[in-house]
Amino acid sequence: MLLGSHVSIAGGYMTALEEAKALNMDAIQIFSKNQRTWSERVVTDEESNMFRKNMPLYGVKQAFSHAIYLINLGTEKEALAEKSIQALVHELARCEALGLTHTVLHPGAAGESTTTEGISRIAKRLKTIFKLAGKGSTKILLENTSGQGTSIGGKLEHLSELLQQTGSSRVGICIDTCHAFASGYDIRTEGGMQEFIDGVDAKIGLKHLLCFHLNDSKGPLGSKLDRHENIGKGELGLTPFKYILKHFEHVPKVLETAKEDDADRKNLTLLRQLASR
Ligand SMILES: [Zn+2]
Ligand SMILES: [Zn+2]
Repeated sequence: MLLGSHVSIAGGYMTALEEAKALNMDAIQIFSKNQRTWSERVVTDEESNMFRKNMPLYGVKQAFSHAIYLINLGTEKEALAEKSIQALVHELARCEALGLTHTVLHPGAAGESTTTEGISRIAKRLKTIFKLAGKGSTKILLENTSGQGTSIGGKLEHLSELLQQTGSSRVGICIDTCHAFASGYDIRTEGGMQEFIDGVDAKIGLKHLLCFHLNDSKGPLGSKLDRHENIGKGELGLTPFKYILKHFEHVPKVLETAKEDDADRKNLTLLRQLASR
């Protein structure tokens, strides 16, 4: 079913696999380095071999990363852009070393400039990143955002435009349910969810939809609030999750909800029940 959660690498990459095994996750997302700093981390051969060898033994079928939040490819500030490009080149290198299929990226924010300008800067910089990264298979999946401030990605049209302008087979998209709802897509009903997915298909193409973030939303429809809630405890209800589990069995789906009170176990149990209904 390719279902799991964002897991920690605080004790090294193997801790992520241990956490996954304890809760029977077959898909996981990690930060491949400390997400709060720009400082880089290089994956050693030993770490690479250990992780690749043990991933299937721990029952994990697909693993991927989330790029650090400091990155902003949409910025007009050249210094920040350069740092962001370098960070993503390093991110792709770690992903290749660990056998991660993709890294999820928030497209970026336009700052003082227009959305159109922001989008073209992001696309141009993505091309630079792939050029610098050289050969490899790890993709960058652009995530839809809650549409806060000048952030790009709150509308499917933004992602569509980014994919077109980048024109690389190494770019795809990741859909976060909380962000979709917060940015104004009413996915609470089966019809609403169907309409949203039809929109993804028409504007982007479902073959580019390669990951889901399953989060309920604390904020109401169109609130632009990026506040994740446990499954079934927020504004979304269970319908959108049931829909995704039913229609996207082969696309990896991970939780990004808070870890308190054994939340991952509870959320995964609920999602597995929904899938079997
Ligand atoms: Zn997300
Ligand atoms: Zn979020």
